[in-house]
Amino acid sequence: MSVTWALPFEKKINPKSNKLVSINTYKEIHSQSVKEYKQFWASVASELEWFKPWEKIIDDSNPPFYKWFVGGELNASYLTVDRHAKSWRKNKVAIIWEGEPVDQNGNPTEVKKLTYYDLFREVNRTAYLLREKYGLRKGDAVTIYLPMIPELPIFMLALARIGVVFSVVFSGFSADALATRIDDAQAKMLITADGGWRRGKVVPLKDIADKALEKVSTIKDVIVVRRVGNKVNMIEGRDKYYDEVMKDVPIDVYVEPERMKSEDPLYILYTSGTTGKPKGIVHDTGGYMTLLHATMRWVFDVRDDDIYWCTADIGWVTGHSYIVFGPLQEGVTEIMYEGALDWPQPDRWVSIIERYGITILYTSPTAIRSFMKYGDEWIKKHKVNTVRIMHSVGEPINPEAFEWFFKLVGREEIPFGSTWWMTETGGIMISHLPGLYLIPLKPGTNAMPILGVEADVVDENGNPTKPEERGYLVIKNPWPGMPLTIHRDPERYIKVYWSKFPGMFYAGDYAVRDSDGYFWILGRADEVIKVAGHRLGTYELESAIIEHPAVAESAVVGIPDPVKGEVPVAFIILKQGYTPSKELMDDILKTVRDKVGPIATLGGVYFVSKLPKTRSGKIMRRVVRAVITNQPVGDVTTLEDEASVDEVRKAYEEFK
Ligand code: ATP
Ligand code: MG
Repeated sequence: MSVTWALPFEKKINPKSNKLVSINTYKEIHSQSVKEYKQFWASVASELEWFKPWEKIIDDSNPPFYKWFVGGELNASYLTVDRHAKSWRKNKVAIIWEGEPVDQNGNPTEVKKLTYYDLFREVNRTAYLLREKYGLRKGDAVTIYLPMIPELPIFMLALARIGVVFSVVFSGFSADALATRIDDAQAKMLITADGGWRRGKVVPLKDIADKALEKVSTIKDVIVVRRVGNKVNMIEGRDKYYDEVMKDVPIDVYVEPERMKSEDPLYILYTSGTTGKPKGIVHDTGGYMTLLHATMRWVFDVRDDDIYWCTADIGWVTGHSYIVFGPLQEGVTEIMYEGALDWPQPDRWVSIIERYGITILYTSPTAIRSFMKYGDEWIKKHKVNTVRIMHSVGEPINPEAFEWFFKLVGREEIPFGSTWWMTETGGIMISHLPGLYLIPLKPGTNAMPILGVEADVVDENGNPTKPEERGYLVIKNPWPGMPLTIHRDPERYIKVYWSKFPGMFYAGDYAVRDSDGYFWILGRADEVIKVAGHRLGTYELESAIIEHPAVAESAVVGIPDPVKGEVPVAFIILKQGYTPSKELMDDILKTVRDKVGPIATLGGVYFVSKLPKTRSGKIMRRVVRAVITNQPVGDVTTLEDEASVDEVRKAYEEFK
């Protein structure tokens, strides 16, 4: 017995694009690129500026520890800054930064513009400070705990310049989470700020950092950027203000960029912790920059007159790749926004699109669903028709949310995709490619693997599934941008990604390819719900639930059932203007049954006002499940709001 497919596979949309090709044309080009993937990626890499060309495209003698472009030398800071500062882009604006605070009329009170030359200067001066005054050298590690201020990319690029590995810890993290990451990275220095703005309040970053520092032993120096001007405790000999130590650094210093080997590590970044203890992913230099160059061009189609905005925080991989290294390598003008997208009003983010005339937008399903909750009016107040390409990332996007956004911001005509990738992959892996060859859109799909990447959906034995049969997402060839390892835990790297299916990278996601060959991520493999012998991805059920007009967002988890093995239960956030009721509950149950089939009969519907999410906005279903099945919740250092956990517990207990 098969389950009727619930998603709108048949619905294809042809956006207005001169890059539109047939599915078969793309498949042919793709299969060619994959067959010769080494040469293919070498030709992409040759578009970067190398200090020394590579001798070997890939060293695959010790899998899964692949090394790309062996023998080649380059520097990520040189590629993002010097190249443009030496060119006609010297006076082009690199970053337009908008601070969170607003005046009485809701207009931002702080906007800064940095040209590529400004960036070049500041990166050099900071690199000089770190190398000459603090003695940092290649092989050292530094932790950065900064809010979304221009100093954050400046420090990242300065450290990359002198070959020091950095680890950025998202500024919303607690002292414990920061301490574990400092300790794991064995960082010598911490770079932080006095505080940061979040929803009109000061987050006391230095105070939090002080608590973390009590728990670690490796940090010798702390640099504090003044952002909010609050009083902080400075420890003599250890803590210095950035502006004070920079005072004596001349304006015109030049720091020769370190000649990094292609396979030298650029940074360590911890995964979001959605499914368990975060993993410290180590990325290389040459492969990583190559993948970013390719995807900035193919996925975002960036050009010199674009205004690009990725709404992520630099504390996550999306920000590392698609705010810092990717766009700056391409010489783009981009927006960097400090605060919450819906503060002080739900239309803050649309006002940013309008204010700067954003042309390329990269955002997330969690943001889109929250805008949807506030309603259309907030968007309609602003002009958004400058946007010509948009993508979403982080979680599967439900068709309902896709269509809503596609209509309101995309005018039902521009390319809009859902780019699948993960901290581990370094950059986008499955996506529409409006800058190259675009295939028709379908609401919610991830489209197809990018050129040079062979992704597949396989069954329990590692054999490819038939179209429309669900299975596990894998990547079958090494790709530039892949991890070097998990920091200080190569065994875990092998175990998590390379052991389930020998010779393939196991992503941990549950997926399906439809009859056209489009990929759909259905949720996490370990969150699949097994009802009476059937396997359902959380995405399938949540997408059906969200089609109900009252629902803004939902999380579905499976709970043990003596008869069926498991039954799905749903936790639901309603749109503004709706209140929970028995009728609504029944109506939602019916919607899901109608859309997915009787197999999807929900064992319960619970209304909540918030769901447990990571600080990057991803629903933590494992936490929901642990709470309602009375299991230990596991690592929750990345949980955004503890109150959400109590809400889930209460909602469940009250209506059980
Ligand atoms: P952890 O690995 O610590 O549990 P995480 O997997 O959430 O956390 P990330 O690397 O930030 O950490 O996220 C990658 C995951 O996000 C993917 O494995 C996938 O489940 C999900 N994801 C990202 N983009 C998409 C997308 N466009 N469509 C569907 N799923 C996506
Ligand atoms: Mg993961």
